[in-house]
This record gives sequence, structure tokens and C-alpha cells, in this order.
Amino acid sequence: MSTTYTALEHELPTVTATMLITAGNNQVTVTCPHCDQQHRHLGLGLRRSPCGHWYLVRAIGGQR
Ligand SMILES: [Zn+2]
Repeated sequence: MSTTYTALEHELPTVTATMLITAGNNQVTVTCPHCDQQHRHLGLGLRRSPCGHWYLVRAIGGQR
């Protein structure tokens, strides 16, 4: 019997957000660990990238 683990479902990569202060919006950009491009999101936490992967977006240095 072979056991196949789908690690992607259990281990989410964590990416560090760069805060963008734009007029009326707090956006973050992250460097995608999958496609190595920059993706924008409207906040921190669990996000799905435009290239179709999930990751956890964290602020630099954490939040107080
Ligand atoms: Zn990507």
C-alpha cells in the first residue's frame, strides 16, 4: 500500500508582505514563492495568489 501525501494542502508557505499605502486602500505586495512575481493583496492572512496557490501573508516584523 502506498501512501501519498499532498504536502501543499498541509503546509502553507509564508510570505512577507510589503505594505503599500495608497489613497484609501491598504494594500500589500508579496513576492510569490511559486512564480517569483509580485502579487498584490488587500490584506494579510490566508490568500490565494493570482497564479493559483495559497499562502499566508505576514507583516514584516509581525503586528503589535
Ligand atoms: Zn504567483
